[in-house]
Amino acid sequence: LGRKLNAALSSLNRAPVVDDKVLDALLKEVCAALLETDVNVKLVQQLRSKVKTKVKATFESTADKAKETNRKQVVQKAIFDELVNLVDPGVEPYKPKKGHFNVIMAVGLQGNGKTTTCTKLAVHYQKRGFKSCIVCADTFRAGAFDQTRQSATKAKVAYFGSYTETDPVAIAAQGVAKFKKEKFEVIIVDTSGRHKQEGELFEEMVQIGNAVKPDMTVLILDASIGQAAEAQSRAFKESADFGAIIVTKMDGHAKGGGAISAVAATQTPIIFLGTGEHLTDLDRFSPQPFISKLLGLGDVQGLMEHMQDLATQNPDRQKEMAKKLEEGKLSIRDWREQIQNVMNLGPISKIASMIPGLPQELLQGSDEDGAARMRRMIYITDSMTSAELDSDGSPFMEFGKDGKPVALTWRVTRVARGSGTSVREVEEVLCQYRVMASMAKQAGGKNGWLQAMQKMQ
Ligand code: GDP
Ligand code: MG
Repeated sequence: LGRKLNAALSSLNRAPVVDDKVLDALLKEVCAALLETDVNVKLVQQLRSKVKTKVKATFESTADKAKETNRKQVVQKAIFDELVNLVDPGVEPYKPKKGHFNVIMAVGLQGNGKTTTCTKLAVHYQKRGFKSCIVCADTFRAGAFDQTRQSATKAKVAYFGSYTETDPVAIAAQGVAKFKKEKFEVIIVDTSGRHKQEGELFEEMVQIGNAVKPDMTVLILDASIGQAAEAQSRAFKESADFGAIIVTKMDGHAKGGGAISAVAATQTPIIFLGTGEHLTDLDRFSPQPFISKLLGLGDVQGLMEHMQDLATQNPDRQKEMAKKLEEGKLSIRDWREQIQNVMNLGPISKIASMIPGLPQELLQGSDEDGAARMRRMIYITDSMTSAELDSDGSPFMEFGKDGKPVALTWRVTRVARGSGTSVREVEEVLCQYRVMASMAKQAGGKNGWLQAMQKMQ
C-alpha cells in the first residue's frame, strides 16, 4: 500500500499542472490502492469525495491560483488528512496510570493473537515502569494456561491461571483480586476466543467484564481477516464494549485495510500493531505518524520514541554520542556502537522507514539480509585494533599520486583475514562508515533531526 500511495504522490509531483484530470487520476490511484488492501468500499468513496470537495474549495478560494506548487501541496495535504481521518476516530484511548490498578481485558476470536499480545503488552508496560502481570482466563482451549505460563516466564512477567478450575469468570476474578492485593499496576486479562462469534462466547465476555471491571477492553484483530473485520468488530462491540483495538500480524502478507474499516465501524482507536511473533514486536500506533510513514514521509516521532527508549537505558552515553555526531567526530568505534544500537531497536526495515528522506530502495531486501549485513559489519570492526577503532578511518588511508585517498592494503587485508571476510567487504564497510559520518555531521546541524532528538533527552 505504501509503495502505491508513494508512487501516486510522486506522479502528482511530476505533473506539470494540477487540473481536474490530474486530480481524478490521482484519486483513482489512491482509491485503488486502498481497495486492494480491503478497506471498505464506502469508506474509500467517502474519502474520494471529501478530498475532491476540499481541494476544489481551496482552489477556488485561493487568490494565487497560478502557483502550481501550492496546488500540489493542497492536494497532498487533503489526501494526507483524509487518510488520517480513516484511522483516527477522534477518541482518546485509555492510558494506564502509575500507582493505580489498570485492568486491561483482551477479547477477540481464537487465533487472532490475544495470548501473544497480552504478553507483549505486559512487556511494554513493564519496560515503562509499570508492575505488570497476566491473568489467563481461557479455559476453553486446551493448553491455554501452558501457553501463558511459557510466554510469561520467558518475558519475566508475573502470571496467574489454573489447571483445574473450569470457570473462566472465577479465574479472572481470583487472578485480578490476587494481583491487586500484590499492588500490580497493569493487570492484563486474557480470555478465550472460541472459534466463532457465538452467543456463549459473548455471554462469557460480559460475565468476565462484570467480574473484573476492566479499565480498558481491547479487541485483538488479525490483520489478515480482511473485510470480515467490520462485522467481527461490530459483533464484539455489542457485548464487550472495547475501547481500543490492536491489529496483529501486520508483518505478514496481510492487507490490513479491514482493520481500518473496523475503526470506522466501531469508532474505536487502534493503539498498537503487532508486527511479529517476538515479545518486542509491538508498535505503538498513532494515526498521523502511521499515514506519514505509509506515504514515505518518515516517522520522526516513532524514531524519537525508539531513541528515547535507548536514551533512558544509557542517557549519558547517548548525549555524548549526539554531541560527537554533531561535531563530526564519530569514530569507527562509535559507529559500531550505533549499528549495535540500531540492531537492538528492532527490524532494520522498521527503523529505516521511520527516517525521513531515506529512499525506499534502501529499505528493500528482507530484515534477515539487513541484520546479516550489519552483523558482518560488526565482525569486521571486531578485527580492528583499538587505535583503528578510535580513529576516523585515517589509518586505513594512503594518498595516491593524484592526491586521492586509496585504502592501505595491508591493514585492510589483516582485518579481512581476521574477520573471515574479503578485502572488498572491508573497504565497503570503511566507505559506509565515511558516508555515515559525513551524513551524520550534516544531519546534526542546527535544524537536523539529530539536533531535535538531542533536545528531547
Ligand atoms: P489467541 O488464540 O488469540 O490467544 O492467539 P495466540 O496469541 O495464541 O496467537 C496465534 C498465533 O498467531 C500464534 O502462532 C502467534 O505466534 C501468532 N501471532 C500473534 N501475533 C502475531 C503477530 O503480530 N505477527 C505474527 N507473525 N504472528 C503473530
Ligand atoms: Mg489464547
